Amino acid sequence: MLTWLDNAGCRGLDTELFFPAGPKGPGRRQADEAKSVCKTCPVRRQCASWAFATAQEYGIWGGIDEEERVLASRRRRLSTRPNGPAGKKGTDSV
Ligand code: SF4
Repeated sequence: MLTWLDNAGCRGLDTELFFPAGPKGPGRRQADEAKSVCKTCPVRRQCASWAFATAQEYGIWGGIDEEERVLASRRRRLSTRPNGPAGKKGTDSV
């Protein structure tokens, strides 16, 4: 159960704010506004963790947009490789 949502800073706000139309122009301003709400949200960590755990493809969760989640997930995968971020020397196929 997502009981942490009871304390969400975005509770009562228009959910569209957290799903900007794009990364530029009005979408960028919308994203900045959404992230400023998240910045002071008491359940920000739970929200971000949930978004990662459920592989949310769209939207701003925990102050993190989809592009930032993809990059963070990629960094996490690389850092947990047995031979480190670059993989085994000479065999990395990235
Ligand atoms: S972190 Fe942002 S999206 Fe998540 S519950 Fe809080 S205000 Fe809403």
